[in-house]
Amino acid sequence: MTSETSASAAPDFSGLPLPPAMLDNLQRLGYTHMTPIQAASLPLTLAGKDLIAQAKTGSGKTAAFSLPLLLNLNPRRFAVQALVLCPTRELADQVTQEIRRLARAEDNIKILTLCGGTTMRPQIASLEHGAHIVVGTPGRILDHLSRQTLDLGALNTLVLDEADRMLDMGFAEDIAQVLQHCPKERQTLLFSATYPDGVTKLATRFMRSPQEVKLTERH
Ligand code: ADP
Ligand code: MG
Repeated sequence: MTSETSASAAPDFSGLPLPPAMLDNLQRLGYTHMTPIQAASLPLTLAGKDLIAQAKTGSGKTAAFSLPLLLNLNPRRFAVQALVLCPTRELADQVTQEIRRLARAEDNIKILTLCGGTTMRPQIASLEHGAHIVVGTPGRILDHLSRQTLDLGALNTLVLDEADRMLDMGFAEDIAQVLQHCPKERQTLLFSATYPDGVTKLATRFMRSPQEVKLTERH
């Protein structure tokens, strides 16, 4: 990912307002230095700002939104407090795995992955048992919201991951409808590999004076 020279020049995580257990966990995962998108975005997101972040694939965007999401979470409150929307099942599974790794130091955080292409019943059963974090594709999340098998009343963090791809796949309307089920008072984080007009439109519709971090492609 980053070359050795730029990695050693990059800031480490210890300067961030993160709990010691989380910093220890990052060390254990071998995350010694922040990637450029993490270094540019975490000071803003950990301060509670809405953010639009653009950086190429493989630049560490998952941790950039997962750390603020985990910091906003109250593990003792067993309700869905964070929702991550992803374009595909494969990406939703990857995001779930990365959040699990990053959350290891936290107390029993339950994450559910809800994507289309499988039957509703097992997902509904899992939702009945409750979760702190839901990761899923917009269509299936909307389906659960319409059936009232998912309640986002306690949500405090909403992430739109790979926003450009979700728009390419025609999810704009589903996303808009999901947003209607989210509390207005929340932190919204939008991550994208590219920054087409559609993403700007999406952001202006749903975000609260978002900060912008764009990292241009480097050789
Ligand atoms: P993106 O979403 O931008 O495509 P990912 O979040 O999937 O990128 O991260 C790409 C890879 O980099 C993953 O394997 C992840 O575990 C790793 N990674 C992320 N942040 C760091 C870091 N600070 N130090 C080392 N590896 C990292
Ligand atoms: Mg990603």
